[in-house]
Amino acid sequence: MEQIAKVFSIEKLTHDVLRITAEKPANLTYLPGQAVDISINKPGWEKELRAFTFTSLPQDDHIEFSIKTYPLHKGVTNQLLSLTKGDELIVGGVFGDIAYKGEGIFIAGGAGITPFLAILKQLEKENKIGQNKLLFANKTKADIICEDRLSRLLGKNFVNILSDEKQEGYEHGFISTDLIRKLISKDTNYFYLCGPPPMMQAVEKQLSELGVAEGSIVKEAF
Ligand SMILES: Cc1cc2nc3c(=O)[nH]c(=O)nc-3n(C[C@H](O)[C@H](O)[C@H](O)COP(=O)(O)OP(=O)(O)OC[C@H]3O[C@@H](n4cnc5c(N)ncnc54)[C@H](O)[C@@H]3O)c2cc1C
Repeated sequence: MEQIAKVFSIEKLTHDVLRITAEKPANLTYLPGQAVDISINKPGWEKELRAFTFTSLPQDDHIEFSIKTYPLHKGVTNQLLSLTKGDELIVGGVFGDIAYKGEGIFIAGGAGITPFLAILKQLEKENKIGQNKLLFANKTKADIICEDRLSRLLGKNFVNILSDEKQEGYEHGFISTDLIRKLISKDTNYFYLCGPPPMMQAVEKQLSELGVAEGSIVKEAF
């Protein structure tokens, strides 16, 4: 069922990521980690559905999305760059494979952090961050979404890896079997994985090399 949601605010989270808040449609229910099909209620864009993950919590009185924009695609995310307060989104069906099952390692690439932002926010609220760890892969430091917040939340359990930039205190290159192995502890029951398909394929292969069972992997490709 499609519902209209008026946009409350738009701000930049990074140089190319927007944080958009909007009215919460009546009776909308979702779990932290789930996504929804969104389109823009403007002529010619109503039927252009794209999936975005809620970075708000189900109990919040508004909905929030954190959206990486791709101006070169000339698609929906480019169009979102000219969205203003009072414009409308069309909110469709809720779906998604990522849900929290227990402590483990969250492995995200770029905008693949969004389901984990929602889950970590919920765990923070419940005082259950525990020994959860986050391995976050980006091109450069400027691409890291919510770095300060995640640092405060996870401390030493937040590990960043940058492929295109060398920075002190940050891993360099791509995620490797060795890096994942270093993070595994007795509290690692699950591996949560979300990012672009090439990164997902590489990390799934590494998890398999580490002997991680399929049933311990919770994943969604963006
Ligand atoms: C379950 C799920 C949840 C998601 N949640 C989020 C989220 O919370 N935040 C987030 O940022 N993203 C999220 N994504 C990814 C998001 O859906 C895509 O980034 C988004 O659909 C891109 O839409 P777009 O219209 O801007 O571009 P696209 O739909 O990728 O492209 C539009 C057109 O541009 C052209 N094009 C495609 N690739 C290129 C290219 N490389 N160069 C030039 N032209 C190109 C093609 O003709 C294409 O039809 C999620 C994806 C899934 C599956």
